[in-house]
Amino acid sequence: MTDCYTFETRLLHNKHKVDPVTGGVSVPIQHASTFHQHSVDHFGKYDYSRSLNPTREALEEIIAELEGGTRGFAFSSGMAAISTAFLLFSKGDHIVVTEDVYGGSYRMVTQVLNRFGIEHTFVDMTDLDAVKKAIKPNTRLLYVETPSNPLLKVTDIQGISKLAKLHGAYTFVDNTFMTPYLQRPLELGADLVLHSATKFLSGHSDTVAGLAVVKNEDLGHKLYSLQNSFGAILGVQDAWLVMRGIKTLSVRMNQSQDSAVKIAHFLKNEPSIKNVYYPGLSEHPQYHVQRGQAEGPGAVLSLELENAEKLKRFIENLNLPVFAVSLGAVESIISYPAKMSHAAMPEDERKKRGISDGLLRLSVGLENVDDLIKDFEQALLSANKHSAYKEGIR
Ligand SMILES: *Cc1c(COP(=O)(O)O)cnc(C)c1O
Repeated sequence: MTDCYTFETRLLHNKHKVDPVTGGVSVPIQHASTFHQHSVDHFGKYDYSRSLNPTREALEEIIAELEGGTRGFAFSSGMAAISTAFLLFSKGDHIVVTEDVYGGSYRMVTQVLNRFGIEHTFVDMTDLDAVKKAIKPNTRLLYVETPSNPLLKVTDIQGISKLAKLHGAYTFVDNTFMTPYLQRPLELGADLVLHSATKFLSGHSDTVAGLAVVKNEDLGHKLYSLQNSFGAILGVQDAWLVMRGIKTLSVRMNQSQDSAVKIAHFLKNEPSIKNVYYPGLSEHPQYHVQRGQAEGPGAVLSLELENAEKLKRFIENLNLPVFAVSLGAVESIISYPAKMSHAAMPEDERKKRGISDGLLRLSVGLENVDDLIKDFEQALLSANKHSAYKEGIR
């Protein structure tokens, strides 16, 4: 019905635009855990809220529609969504995982799934030949995160999906950094899309939530059964907050992304910045892959300072971005992967992946970009002045 509209319009005008009972223009929050059954012979659609709840269901339908899937699922966190999706696999199965995967997913694969006999291989997924080599006869899944965290490496979703199909394996994509506004993996051949809705989808640093969307109904039945069995469902208040966040997704993403492009160019020209990782820079190694599969480079970039000491002074002098884990919010967030998102990864693994002690990840918010750049300028100046002074007295 709403297919004729563009994405921005569909963020607002979907099946849940108006409550059919009252005409309310916001989805009602149904707190009931259980539902009265009017007949002994015929139970209603809803019986118990772990199994199905109308508020959560509204969010599940909205995300399914936006990702172009057949069915959506809302979980209590991104990790709950990811972990539940991993439960589709069994003892003896092998999964291939992108090497700079989110720290929590890394922990799940290496410390939990291994105990249940699910083997894994990490591989740099920007290299399709390396992925091909990692595939074994029992490989059942290629697990993608693109752009990756925190080095913003871009994986060719279509290339991976084709490879997976050839070997009878599934392709799952963690689409947290892009959201369906910028990238729709199911249209590129993926079977399942995952989100930490804690990030851009809710967008205000005030909810922890996870989402999954499947392309085909068979996978949908299996994931529904696991959602109901594992029970890590999203609460109704949080489901409502995610739905409210989704309404402003495109305007938030547009503003943050425009600012991210400007900040990336500013940082690139700063001599004290060793590296800028952002798929919106034409020198990014997968710049063209990103342009081919997504509608923009997103609002997350990483920058590398010379060393941990400079990084510390830079952070101490920065006034605007909050220094915190997480991303995808109205306020800019700067985080320190080595000590935050990737703290679960052993140091040698981190270094091997290029996550140095001078690396920072920036998620650009909605502040005026000139204010942000001025703030970076003064913080870099202070960080560098201090070291010049120190070197002078040595
Ligand atoms: C935050 C994040 C997760 C985990 O989500 P939670 O909501 O924190 O459980 C997974 N993947 C990516 C890419 C993330 O940024």
